[in-house]
Amino acid sequence: MPKMKAIAKTKPAPGAEIIEIDIPTPGPDEVLVKVLATSICGTDLHIFEWNKWAQNRFKNLPRVMGHELCGEIIEIGKNVENLKKGDIISAETHIACGHCYLCQTGNAHICVNGSILGVDINGVFAEYAVIPANNAWVLDKRIPKDHASVMEPLGNAVHTVLAGDIAGNSVLITGCGPIGLMSIAVSRICGATQIIATEINAYRIELAKKVGADLVLNPKEEKIVPRVLGETRNLGVDAVLEMSGNPTAIRDAFEALRPGGRYSILGIPDKPMEIDLGKHIVFKYATVQGINGRLMFSTWHQTARFLSSGRLDLAPIITHRFSLDEYEKGMELMASGNCGKILLYP
Ligand code: NAD
Ligand code: ZN
Repeated sequence: MPKMKAIAKTKPAPGAEIIEIDIPTPGPDEVLVKVLATSICGTDLHIFEWNKWAQNRFKNLPRVMGHELCGEIIEIGKNVENLKKGDIISAETHIACGHCYLCQTGNAHICVNGSILGVDINGVFAEYAVIPANNAWVLDKRIPKDHASVMEPLGNAVHTVLAGDIAGNSVLITGCGPIGLMSIAVSRICGATQIIATEINAYRIELAKKVGADLVLNPKEEKIVPRVLGETRNLGVDAVLEMSGNPTAIRDAFEALRPGGRYSILGIPDKPMEIDLGKHIVFKYATVQGINGRLMFSTWHQTARFLSSGRLDLAPIITHRFSLDEYEKGMELMASGNCGKILLYP
């Protein structure tokens, strides 16, 4: 059996390991891809650092990490008809069952039997990976492989930005990690007329300006609410896109939202938190929505079109490139926050 290198979680402890394992064989409804590029997500860092969530979720070790990729199909399962060898793909990482109530009613992204690539099954931080055929997204060859690799988190940004009105609107984007940065870029090409971002990391503040925020505020240096009100004729912003998961940022953004505005939350606080439901949602007449994953597959169509159009510039957001062997450097950099998106090449 030919072997491959992969980055795997081998022990229930912080860290990861480079292992040599058999190149996997695709099942009847799967494809085998040669990984051309992969990128590090916050989830991978949680798994690497072995936080509470990872400890509860990761049961069967060793498990190959990683879920964002661009790959070339080199083998197809016997039932797969819509894909062929040589196709270049990215992948939706939420694996849906296809037959639960949610899958049957257009909500496969929140499938009750869902599993996640690189979490519940072996992932893509490897030379080769098996992907369920239903999850493969065939790429327009014009899309560079680096951009293809980050289509999944870009899809989170597209899903959030397009979850309500955006053209002609003022928007507050809280947190300028990779997905916040992508949301700035997407909001801009979708016609948001005033983009205010908040971030505490100096490196990311500069990136946010580069990708098109009109104003970037640092909550460590000034009070966010009066400043945003001042910038919006004391009305507040039409929309909040929450991308930090930080409780203070989340509460401040409720104050900075105009009455009747929409508040879309992608960020995940690491524990339960309080908000003033009456003041911030009921009396404010706010529309608050949780955003999970990407709509399957309308968000993928939108994301692919943005990328093919050439109007969305991801270049400033992809800040670092390493070989797969150097994954530890990538993880360290992610933990420091002094980066945008980090790519790894097998
Ligand atoms: P990230 O952790 O890289 O980015 C969060 C950013 O928020 C960081 O740059 C951090 O410096 C900044 N921040 C922290 N405190 C802040 C504050 N008080 N004010 C403003 N900014 C602050 O994460 P990411 O990969 O860009 O993802 C964004 C969020 O979305 C995370 O919370 C992540 O867990 C979550 N997420 C959700 C989904 C989903 O499907 N709902 C998918 C992917 C990621
Ligand atoms: Zn389902």
